Amino acid sequence: MWFEHLQSRLDALAAGDLTRRLRTVLSGTAPHQRVSGADGVARDLLLFCSNDYLGLAAHPAIAQALAEGARRWGGGSGASPLVSGHSAAHAAVADWLGQAYAAHIPQARALGFCTGYMANLGVLTALGDADTELFCEALNHASLIDGARLARGRVTRYPHRDVQALAHALAVSTAPRRLIVTDSVFSMDGDIAPLRELLALAEAHDALLVVDDAHGFGVLGERGLGAVEALGLRSQRLVLVGTLGKAAGVAGAFVVAHTTVIEFLLQTARNLIFSTAAPPAVEHAVLAALHLVDSEEGRERRALLAQRVARLRSGMADLLAERPATPWQLLPSDTPIQPLIIGDNAATMALSARLEQLGLRVPGIRPPTVPAGTARLRITLCAAHTARDVDRLLQALAECADERVGATA
Ligand code: PMP
Repeated sequence: MWFEHLQSRLDALAAGDLTRRLRTVLSGTAPHQRVSGADGVARDLLLFCSNDYLGLAAHPAIAQALAEGARRWGGGSGASPLVSGHSAAHAAVADWLGQAYAAHIPQARALGFCTGYMANLGVLTALGDADTELFCEALNHASLIDGARLARGRVTRYPHRDVQALAHALAVSTAPRRLIVTDSVFSMDGDIAPLRELLALAEAHDALLVVDDAHGFGVLGERGLGAVEALGLRSQRLVLVGTLGKAAGVAGAFVVAHTTVIEFLLQTARNLIFSTAAPPAVEHAVLAALHLVDSEEGRERRALLAQRVARLRSGMADLLAERPATPWQLLPSDTPIQPLIIGDNAATMALSARLEQLGLRVPGIRPPTVPAGTARLRITLCAAHTARDVDRLLQALAECADERVGATA
């Protein structure tokens, strides 16, 4: 019974062109990897899909810190943070983050989680009790959606970037407490939430504002502290989640908030209390990564990244202007996430497959990850891309457009 049921579900996914495939990376770090394809053939690919935005995963200082941390601390932490898993390396990361965000969050304190997914689950389940209404942005990341599902409070979704709709929903809410929950940089669209307006609403309605800055941390702001730094925000209502496996190039996540909020999370977030802390060696490498993010080198990498984004956008604008019949649309985005909407699922996957034949890995993203009819290539850029890498992608896309690969007609 079970196997027929599961197989028919899998068949339905395949019929809708929705099967996802796991590939094995044989060697390399973004943007160059040797990857074993579904056909078992190994290929050298230039990636336009990694979230290693600053190219730090391959940085020698991080690899060295990881090795040094392993020599000093060994492998795993062996226990949850409140038992014996919280090492001096974990504490050093939290101290650095608490101090870094002091300008943005009064009495800022930081708490580590093993992944961003876990951090979001922990924050929303701990704060979103039965007396708390959660106001969730329509395009929030899956981990915020799942966190809201697990929370005990009522969940109200508001349309993408629609401050007025949110203001209305807050005004008619009768819940004793309110939590506004949003991504900063939207992971599939690359645009940015109107955080200043959301914070004003949080102030007006006595709410907390949970911001998932997974794609902003390291990328935005002069020091790389993310969206709150870029926008110059300061409030004790901010509950900021940052991830350390993307621009920081290592792994894990943090929550920074007013010390009272953090103390409450430490006492009540079940997935923190009942889960083994990250390996101390990883934290040691994270500390090295934080120093790099907030350094002259970090600033230079952010400047390079901005140049790559500008080159891709102007090149795509030319490409599409020269080919008015090509039904693709590059969404407006200033971040390293540059989505090219193709529309049709099969056309999107055909385009992604053709690019792979040309040595480029640009994954197609289909529903349910994105709304039906908006299947897309999610192009991400990183500081380690050269200008020639970007030109290679543009040239390959031009070839595909001329061959009508990825056309829905
Ligand atoms: N939030 C957003 C917006 C993300 O894109 C991701 C990862 N794709 C996460 C949270 C989860 O972070 P992690 O990969 O560290 O679990």
